[in-house]
Amino acid sequence: MGLPSQLLEPSFPQRTQTGPSPFARTKKKLKRRLDRDYSQLARRSYQAAFLLLNVWLGGAFYFWVRRLETGASSADITPPPGIDGWLPIAGLMNLKYFLLTGLVPSIHPAAMFLLVTFLAMSFLFRKAFCSWLCPVGTLSEYLGLLGQKIFGRNFRIWRWIDIPLRGLKYFLLGFFVWAISSMSAAAIANFMRSDYGLVAGVKMLNFFRHMGETGLIVVGILVLASVFVQNFWCRYLCPYGALLGFASLLSPVRIRREPEPCIDCGKCAKVCPSSLPVDKLVTIKSAECTGCLECVAICPAEGALHLALPQFSNPPKRIPSWAMAAGIAVLFFGVVGYAKAVGLWESHVPGAVYRQLVPHASEACHPMPGDPEISR
Ligand code: SF4
Ligand code: SF4
Repeated sequence: MGLPSQLLEPSFPQRTQTGPSPFARTKKKLKRRLDRDYSQLARRSYQAAFLLLNVWLGGAFYFWVRRLETGASSADITPPPGIDGWLPIAGLMNLKYFLLTGLVPSIHPAAMFLLVTFLAMSFLFRKAFCSWLCPVGTLSEYLGLLGQKIFGRNFRIWRWIDIPLRGLKYFLLGFFVWAISSMSAAAIANFMRSDYGLVAGVKMLNFFRHMGETGLIVVGILVLASVFVQNFWCRYLCPYGALLGFASLLSPVRIRREPEPCIDCGKCAKVCPSSLPVDKLVTIKSAECTGCLECVAICPAEGALHLALPQFSNPPKRIPSWAMAAGIAVLFFGVVGYAKAVGLWESHVPGAVYRQLVPHASEACHPMPGDPEISR
């Protein structure tokens, strides 16, 4: 597919030997780890908290839209800004605007702050957003667990299909990056100020509220596929995850296996939701690693597997799971708290504009390149 090997690292270690082999490794003595692992408790708590936060945001946004649609005079003038987290393309456009002008955009600034937070998180802790925070990732993970309950396991797609399919999310990302790369700062600002840009969140809500037959079929297929194949959406289709994967490639933090204490039990590779050959590699550089720490949690051998900073010290500096959990929280609340404190979190749109546009959001069309509304 022409993509760097770290993006599409081999995911299915060869385990085709059935009998004793001259290359079989000598069985190593297990020095069992005594510490209890709390990484999965922490991760699942974060997932639950972020899912609840998004349900609350979605509910608040829905009622805000309904109040404007029904003309309730008490309607708040602004929507909950956190809903901008569901507009990653707006986040990418606003980031480009900020880099070009040095100015924080006035429409959907929260989308940019959240994107920057998650990019920084990917640099520090691999694609931790995907496995610790993303509500779609959480739902996808639980659908996979449901599949495990029903069938006793999840299914793996043949490698010759799996690898090109994994490239799909990079092509989707490439399309969005290409579309945004041709826009100047003025074009981005005009796009955001267009009717479509102002009510982009409402349009997304309308998509789910008034889903047509095709939409229902597509969502149904994705849900069903996620029951059979672990993290189907994240693995093959999510362009946001693909973008965070690129940031994670720059990360000095890696999952690292110490060959000496490792007893080659293969449990880490078996549990890895990204099907990475953790038991065969020393450091996991792949952009597919989501920093879920499931491999670390299941490893029975003392000091065999950990999150570490391999380049900076010998032996590599280990990062305990509590430090990762704390780092994720500090980053998230730090950036969001800063943006709120300095008054940069909310869109600056007069309430009268929302009152006029929201009830007719379905009629707002996507501005096309060359459209005078977003002309350079
Ligand atoms: S199980 Fe380990 S290697 Fe696999 S995605 Fe999670 S942290 Fe990365
Ligand atoms: S879980 Fe992986 S790292 Fe741990 S002992 Fe088994 S093969 Fe080695």
